[in-house]
Amino acid sequence: MEALPPDCATALSEAASNAMANSRPYLAIAHSLRDGMVRTYEVLALPTYCRWSGTLIGIYVNEQGAQYNLLDAIFSTTGDGVIALLTIRDAVGNPVDFQIAHHNQAAAKLLNVPGRSLQWQRLNTSGYLLGSEAVMERLRAAAAKHQSDQFEIEHEDRCLRLAVTIFSGILSLVISDVTPLKRREASFRLLFDSNPMPMWVFDLETMAFLMVNDAAVNHYGYARENFLQMKVHEICPKDEWDSHARALQDLDETCQSERHWRHVEADGSELCVLTYGRRLVLDQREGYLVAVADITERRKAEARVAHMAHHDGLTNLANRALHKARLRDALEAGGHAPGERVAVLCTNLDLFKNANDSFGHPMGDQLLQQVADRLRCEMSGNNLAARLGGDEFAVIMTTDTSPKEASDFAVRLIRTLSVPYEIDGHQVVIGASIGIALWPGDGTSSEELMRNADMALYRAKEDGRGVHRFFEPEMDRQAQRRREMESDLRRALADGEFELNYQPVVDLASDRISGFEALLRWRHPKRGMISPADFIPVAEDIGLIGSLGEWVLLEACREAASWPSEVKIAVNLSPVQFRSRNLVQVAISALANSGLPPKRLELEITESVFLAETEANIAILHQLRELGVSISLDDFGTGYSSLSYLRSFPFDKIKIGRSFVKDLAKRSDCVAIVRAISGLGRSLNITTPAEGVETTDQLDRLRAEGCNEVQGFLFSAAKPAAEVEQLLLRFGASASRAA
Ligand code: C2E
Ligand code: MG
Ligand code: MG
Repeated sequence: MEALPPDCATALSEAASNAMANSRPYLAIAHSLRDGMVRTYEVLALPTYCRWSGTLIGIYVNEQGAQYNLLDAIFSTTGDGVIALLTIRDAVGNPVDFQIAHHNQAAAKLLNVPGRSLQWQRLNTSGYLLGSEAVMERLRAAAAKHQSDQFEIEHEDRCLRLAVTIFSGILSLVISDVTPLKRREASFRLLFDSNPMPMWVFDLETMAFLMVNDAAVNHYGYARENFLQMKVHEICPKDEWDSHARALQDLDETCQSERHWRHVEADGSELCVLTYGRRLVLDQREGYLVAVADITERRKAEARVAHMAHHDGLTNLANRALHKARLRDALEAGGHAPGERVAVLCTNLDLFKNANDSFGHPMGDQLLQQVADRLRCEMSGNNLAARLGGDEFAVIMTTDTSPKEASDFAVRLIRTLSVPYEIDGHQVVIGASIGIALWPGDGTSSEELMRNADMALYRAKEDGRGVHRFFEPEMDRQAQRRREMESDLRRALADGEFELNYQPVVDLASDRISGFEALLRWRHPKRGMISPADFIPVAEDIGLIGSLGEWVLLEACREAASWPSEVKIAVNLSPVQFRSRNLVQVAISALANSGLPPKRLELEITESVFLAETEANIAILHQLRELGVSISLDDFGTGYSSLSYLRSFPFDKIKIGRSFVKDLAKRSDCVAIVRAISGLGRSLNITTPAEGVETTDQLDRLRAEGCNEVQGFLFSAAKPAAEVEQLLLRFGASASRAA
């Protein structure tokens, strides 16, 4: 086989090995090439078992049909037109015309002429497309200079590319139809030019802009000529040139920027963009097409949204979420660097609610903004001020804050925040209390630290406001007790743990009981009797006072209805009960249910009813009075004791607080105050009973000062309902009970 020419050997061995592999005859078709002529054979391989050993292969070769010229075959089947031209020269040897020596069928087809008619044609006289002056000129030039050439011509809405090469005086002309290519190019241009996205192509070799679209010119503000004189990196600010160059080094076929880039506009302002690109060949140059998405506005909006998510809309201080995150970060950082101390300060504005109620919310907002401005001015280093909500603010002090530094800062802050505020020509005075918790020590988590700072704040408020307090573990225990009381209280009303005791009120003129004050008692299953002074504020805070007060009123009226008809009942009201707005309705139903005549019911309020929502509360008082109920001002002299309260509502009674009665013997100012109040009462025609009378000496002095009613342990403490009858017997009121 090795002795055979390669084409024969390949065909024979292929047939033989396939026949062996299948163990049956195999027929192959083979071609051989001699002097450019192709012959076709059938090769039949027959495997024969040999008696002695192995297999013998018999091969029969049979020539098939006609032979043909290979080059002619290729020539006539290609889609490109090929024409061989002989050059015809003038007397001085310049090429003047060309004669078609050979051409394939595709050439005739592309030139749109009958196949045979081209052969031996002279181009000049042919009248065909190739004889046009434009083509002739290029051909003559190529022939004269012995140089290859390539150019395009338009013909009947098609575009033909003509490639001319020259060998031994013969011009070979290859004609290709590039119409689809041209159409693609045209649609690319259209897409490029009219694209609303800024786009450009830059040269991958020189890095110069090759073309830019209108959108790029408009968006960036460079004139097109300026653009085309620039290198592509010059669109970035100088400090990004290095990273831009690195990104260009490993450009892929396509790319989509993984990061945003900064681009510089003609006026120097910066854009934030994303870029998308693809390699292309433009006018035979390796280029890169880039489309730009300007995300400057989107980034700004995102930044705005992120800012809004972390800042308080009114004051632009950090909000609760940011405060929490930063505190957590500070504790984490402190955890890595031992000795780093962190302080959190919680502050609450004193009297803000009053200012907000009396000046209105728009002014309250302005006030909060000014508070925030002052807070901001006090911040230094990494310290962060936040508004947690309402009039609650907080400061995180990082950078290893000592207790002394935290305390000094708190003092300064309270002083700064307490300076009167000027709002719309009004002077507003508020103050601030501050609670401080330190890390490490006062808690391990940010939540615990904040809770403890809050507890310290609570203490600061209790201690008279305008002060700061550090957290102490005892506060935690108190808070724990308070939480227990809250949950016990919620249950207590349903479980019937409340009861009313009644303290007699004695009329000094007749020396008889004129009425009783109902005083609430809580019989706690574990802790025994709990004073109303301890649990009423809690009930007010947790919103239980409404239903509790309603129960008191119903119960007291029901009880009093069974007493002699001249004996009155006094019931205490909490200022919080005024907020629910159904107080009048509650009083009406208590009276209706019990059948108690309204004139026997006295409602005791404290001055704090006038501290907030004064107008609305006074309206409620008037409605209560219209029912026929009398209204007393309790504990007068212990709170603000503003005389304007006496003017704002015509009270039936002003009760002189126990604190004045207690010191009547010792302090002359107490005598003066009692005298003044009862004198005031007489001239306003208001009864002025005194509370907390424990000794006969106090009684005598009160009588001397003109007090007409008294109440106190001297007569009796508050007693359960069952003992009322006995008390009535003892203090001379008619002992007979009502029917
Ligand atoms: P208040 O209305 O001024 O009641 C008088 C308080 O002084 C009562 O205390 C009474 O027991 C006490 N007291 C009376 N005479 C004397 C005395 O001679 N010496 C001394 N040391 N104390 C005397 P209590 O019962 O502990 O009530 C405290 C406060 O709790 C009441 O002060 C009242 O403001 C409030 N309160 C009591 N019951 C109710 C209620 O049903 N509703 C509301 N909202 N508050 C109530
Ligand atoms: Mg009272
Ligand atoms: Mg009182």
